[in-house]
Amino acid sequence: MSLAKRLYDLQQIDLEIQKTQEALTDISHQLGESKALLKARAGLLDEEKHLAEMEKQQRDVEWEVEDMRSNIAQLNDKLYGGKIKNPKELVSFEKELEIFKTNLRQKEDNLLDLMTEIEATQDKIKSDAERLKKLEWEWQQEQEVLVQRQAEVESRLLELSQKRQVLTSEVTPQAFELYEGVRSRKGQAVVRVEQGRCHGCHLTLSMNELQRARAGALAQCSSCGRILYLG
Ligand SMILES: [Zn+2]
Repeated sequence: MSLAKRLYDLQQIDLEIQKTQEALTDISHQLGESKALLKARAGLLDEEKHLAEMEKQQRDVEWEVEDMRSNIAQLNDKLYGGKIKNPKELVSFEKELEIFKTNLRQKEDNLLDLMTEIEATQDKIKSDAERLKKLEWEWQQEQEVLVQRQAEVESRLLELSQKRQVLTSEVTPQAFELYEGVRSRKGQAVVRVEQGRCHGCHLTLSMNELQRARAGALAQCSSCGRILYLG
């Protein structure tokens, strides 16, 4: 096997290592809390807080209604208990009672609206909690698959780095150094020769370059410096 072929194989492994590392990074980004899940949890918490506030408000309004009812009852007793004889005073009491009753009706309407809103919020919390539960379950499944995939990719990476070690030991230190040098400058170090052209820069190679490459020597393209491989 020519040195160029060995370096070409090494390059294939390096490309695969790069892809595998990218896949691993991708997986690590997907592992952990999901934004959608955090948002759903925070949303539910806000709704529950809002519900608690409304329930407290409901209790307060219920107390107020209770007070108003007892005030009205007292006024009623006074008014119809026969104790007030003065007609002027009677009229004034009647007016006061009417105002109290109007206020009570308004308060009762408020209470009804509040109770309707509470009921709607309770329904929303119920459906959002179910949605969150489903999201959490899906996320859990996804995480399990990712963890498994991560282990697979890690073991593949180990396998590749072992292969790389073997291939590296099969080339001379000078060839390896040349490969690493060109790779760091050009990205792709070894290129195929196709129809007498360097596949890296697409320029036509000289007869001398082609002959050296054919002879199995480590030949570099004179214009881009990449290592030529006649595969
Ligand atoms: Zn070239």
